[in-house]
Amino acid sequence: LYVEHPLGVGQSVPLDKGQAHYLFGVMRQAVGGQVLLFNGSDGEWRAEIVQAGKRGGELCCVQQTRPLRMPPDVWLLFAPIKKARTDFIVEKAAEMGAARIVPVMTEFTNAGRIQRDRLQAHAVEAAEQCGGTYVPEVVEAVKFGRLLEQWDTSRRIMFCDEALAGATSELPSQPGPWAILIGPEGGFSDRERSKLHKAEFADAVTLGPRILRADTAAVAAMTIWQQKLGD
Ligand code: SAM
Repeated sequence: LYVEHPLGVGQSVPLDKGQAHYLFGVMRQAVGGQVLLFNGSDGEWRAEIVQAGKRGGELCCVQQTRPLRMPPDVWLLFAPIKKARTDFIVEKAAEMGAARIVPVMTEFTNAGRIQRDRLQAHAVEAAEQCGGTYVPEVVEAVKFGRLLEQWDTSRRIMFCDEALAGATSELPSQPGPWAILIGPEGGFSDRERSKLHKAEFADAVTLGPRILRADTAAVAAMTIWQQKLGD
């Protein structure tokens, strides 16, 4: 269970209504039961339920079961698409160990308002379900131009370029840190592609001969990166 609270021996952890509903209503836990907790920074802890109610409850941390495991340093930069598919991208990026998730508004991005909190909640759920001890931060959406202007060039960008489909390209081999960049349904504009091809810190790669949907491309790119550079 993910909690936004420090974890340590004897630490009391309050539960809100939603967490209480999940633990006591859905999971049928009760006082004396044991729960595994993580908060994204203190590792995983075994805690005992000391109070259980409809509107909340309280846990007491007993013992650390796993230390914090930081994912390899790769961010996912992606152009938001339709709501359900954007949710899918965030969920899969969190499962596959992205350290940070950055929505990028490109020229052809055609998505409604980005609800950062909603996307962050999907990242938390994904981390909970895959037993991670870390939750990637979903940051506020940033415009493509601004992203490149402010980019810390010590982090390389693996630019997934659909225009290279069918060509051959080397996959990155430097240890990182890295960011993977996926475009929107309409792909990158010529101007954006040209900027990325000129940028010394970006490496254009192909994901194979077919043009993949943006959500498929995000999963494929994360898989390739983890296979080659992940730990
Ligand atoms: N129209 C489809 C859709 O609805 O999702 C295709 C979108 S594709 C243009 C979206 C992004 O996926 C591209 O900008 C690129 O980043 C990535 N992508 C898709 N296929 C790719 C490939 N074969 N090689 C590299 N990147 C690819």
